[in-house]
Amino acid sequence: MFATLSDRITSAVANLRGRGRLSDAEISASIAEIRRALLDADVALPVVREFTASVREKAAAAELSQVLDPAQQIVKIVHEELTRILGGETRDLHMAKRGPTVIMLAGLQGAGKTTLAGKLGRWMKEQGHSPLLVASDLQRPNAVQQLEIVGKGAGVAVWSPEPGNGVGDPVEVARTGVAHAKEQYYDVVVVDTAGRLGVDAELMQQAADIRDAVQPNEILFVIDAMIGQDAVTTAQAFADGVGFTGVVLSKLDGDARGGAALSVASVTGAPVMFASTGEKVGDFERFHADRMASRILD
Ligand code: GDP
Repeated sequence: MFATLSDRITSAVANLRGRGRLSDAEISASIAEIRRALLDADVALPVVREFTASVREKAAAAELSQVLDPAQQIVKIVHEELTRILGGETRDLHMAKRGPTVIMLAGLQGAGKTTLAGKLGRWMKEQGHSPLLVASDLQRPNAVQQLEIVGKGAGVAVWSPEPGNGVGDPVEVARTGVAHAKEQYYDVVVVDTAGRLGVDAELMQQAADIRDAVQPNEILFVIDAMIGQDAVTTAQAFADGVGFTGVVLSKLDGDARGGAALSVASVTGAPVMFASTGEKVGDFERFHADRMASRILD
């Protein structure tokens, strides 16, 4: 992930290293090379434009052609901009002041929501919380059963649709799940929701209805980093249809070019909060934009 992007950017900057003073033309050429690297990595055009304009502006303000080690300065500026487009400083999850904190997961089918529910549940448990996973994906065959297996593997309780708690109605399952959490003193509820292969109106409405029923503290939009150029339109559709407060990049262990996933935070204004890096329950980490920027520039 980001390997090619990282290679391209570092080589664009490496050309400048150890060369002492640089002309404006040389600085422009290296910024143009970084721009091409971002576009080739599928970063969305508006994001690339903003990124490049910002780097140019900062480079001009720093009077790079006057300084002794301009390469170092360019790396610093690019690092700042990469960090910014990935969502800036890492923030904590919004937790409820009273009653259980509700975290709703949204995204396309196959994005990795159910897998993430288990990871998030276990991570919460490790931090001393008492989480409950709620199976409100009634669309995909076996999604409920999959969540039960994931919950078992993570050692986290699961609320499944059964007679009395909303069989066939994902909104009712979510509502009764949160009510159950309140009664039983679970302090975090992770609501898994249905995703289709493509964005559709019915899916959006269902997710919006679940949102309205459970008033989540966080809505995490899960996106497969391998999705490529469709990432931005998909994210925008979810931002408009349901809204979300954070992004989770899944399948970061794959060999995606990564740029599209990299654009999502920038386009929607919601920070990347977590990274999913494999199929196992422990393949999960907090996402730190500045660390990822450092990795790209390494
Ligand atoms: P959902 O439809 O959004 O609930 O997606 P799932 O959680 O069922 O994930 C779809 C597929 O992707 C499953 O086969 C998962 O094992 C796999 N998967 C999920 N997250 C990751 C990840 O971070 N890395 C890899 N390599 N596979 C993942």
